[in-house]
Amino acid sequence: MAKDREKEPGAARGASDPAELAKRIRAGDRAALARGITLVESSRADHQEQAQALLTLLLPDTGRAVRLGLSGAPGVGKSTFTEAFGTFLTGCGHKVAVLAIDPSSARSGGSILGDKTRMELLARDPNAFIRPSPAGGTLGGVARRTREAMLLTEAAGFDVVLIETVGVGQSETAVADMVDMFLLLLSPGGGDELQGIKRGIMELADLVVVNKADGELVPAAKRAAMEYKAALHLMRPKSAHWQPDVLLASALKGVGIAEIWAAVEAHGKALAQAGELERNRAQQAQAWMWTEIREGLSASLKTNKEAARLIPSLEAEVKAGSMTPTVAARRLLGLVFGRPNP
Ligand code: GDP
Repeated sequence: MAKDREKEPGAARGASDPAELAKRIRAGDRAALARGITLVESSRADHQEQAQALLTLLLPDTGRAVRLGLSGAPGVGKSTFTEAFGTFLTGCGHKVAVLAIDPSSARSGGSILGDKTRMELLARDPNAFIRPSPAGGTLGGVARRTREAMLLTEAAGFDVVLIETVGVGQSETAVADMVDMFLLLLSPGGGDELQGIKRGIMELADLVVVNKADGELVPAAKRAAMEYKAALHLMRPKSAHWQPDVLLASALKGVGIAEIWAAVEAHGKALAQAGELERNRAQQAQAWMWTEIREGLSASLKTNKEAARLIPSLEAEVKAGSMTPTVAARRLLGLVFGRPNP
């Protein structure tokens, strides 16, 4: 423990005591918040235990933020947008936390939010908190750590949480599963770009923002917005109480930012009135529990010696078509639960 404290500059004496840490996080202490997130991100068993104790203590203080997801292909302007949107919100008196899910960050060295120089103002803003994606592990693991970090930022008093991801597919679903509203940032590229984006991602969007609607790009941005609107109308809406819209913005010039926030507020109000906000969050928490169970089961299988020994041959048989996947799965589960093999 002592060694760990030395490594953690923000950790004061007693910082690993969950009750003390919870108190400091509730008081809005940023170093304590950072320490809490470090615990959540750690794979050490004792840290995990402290993290869960901390989260349990803070659970009553969570859930009061607007939870937003933000996605878009690299280069579309996510960092620029976050800087503009975040500073707009802190200017309105909000406290903004920016987190990320980027399962590739272990390989790329933390692409999203890793480079805070692109968000210079927000990074220095005392009412903003920026934390890059936890690195490494499965998408499920990265998602859990971000979700738990979100709860900690809420307990610390941040009332808008923005969770970013890149437009690649599965990580979008992970983000959509933990937020109230999903924003998709697109460029004035129009139809060509639409083809490149997985349809599924468009279906997740509660709001599409065509960024870079400035200068010479304005006409193209308007055309793109029409195309996206038409595409959205063909999709089944996620909610009976909200029709996804397309807005134009220039993150660079700060145009359209207030309108985007107005749409976020309108969405929150519409869903809250219908009871859908609470229902969604309850379902998300329940789904998260099952994700944890699945992850926990896979982990136990991999640490079970006999299972670890059997996995390669069972996988080979399943691939070769000589054993059904169900029989293989049951045999492995039988090892963990100590039941006889089917
Ligand atoms: P990210 O990879 O999605 O985070 O994109 P960045 O925020 O790093 O932006 C990529 C490039 O697009 C940079 O050169 C930005 O200056 C530029 N950019 C971002 N937003 C706008 C905008 O609203 N208008 C214009 N013209 N350029 C923008």
